[in-house]
Amino acid sequence: MDGSGTEPRYLWIRKLATIRRPPRRTVRIVKHRTLPPTARLSLLVVFSVAVLLFMLWRFWQPAEVVSPRERAITDVEFVYKCERNHAFRALGQVGHRSCPVCEQPAYPRWRYACEIHGTFEVALYFGIGADGVPKVTKLRLPGRDWIAVDKTLRCPRCNRELKRLPEDPLDLPRRRLPEGG
Ligand SMILES: [Zn+2]
Ligand SMILES: [Zn+2]
Repeated sequence: MDGSGTEPRYLWIRKLATIRRPPRRTVRIVKHRTLPPTARLSLLVVFSVAVLLFMLWRFWQPAEVVSPRERAITDVEFVYKCERNHAFRALGQVGHRSCPVCEQPAYPRWRYACEIHGTFEVALYFGIGADGVPKVTKLRLPGRDWIAVDKTLRCPRCNRELKRLPEDPLDLPRRRLPEGG
């Protein structure tokens, strides 16, 4: 037992290991399959048609009339008013804007009317809707708490339902927006 039994076995395993080492085949390059010219042409045609259809589709999209309500608030200029009634025009944004005069939070306003007690300026809060799009999510009567936009606004004096006046800041034409300098 001087290892004569193990040594050959060991060598055999080494040999096997060297044999089983994957041979390096440097020349095994997969031939690039070249398509016949007709196939290439038809592929090109299909691709061109797809691009053309996509461009047509893209061209058609903006042609649809987007109502002001559907425009992103960040594209529309609003009259913001702070608690102290400083007014300024600015593009809509989620949350409030700070008044440039007194730094109080400022919100755009809608006018609501009670048939007896006249009009109220209701502050609008822009939040993120369920669809992920910024929109008016809350309303606030002067001196009151915010309520969800789908709740009925009631006159703080007689509790009658307030009607929104047709004037709508979202319908305001874009004015004083930078037109590329
Ligand atoms: Zn102010
Ligand atoms: Zn009233």
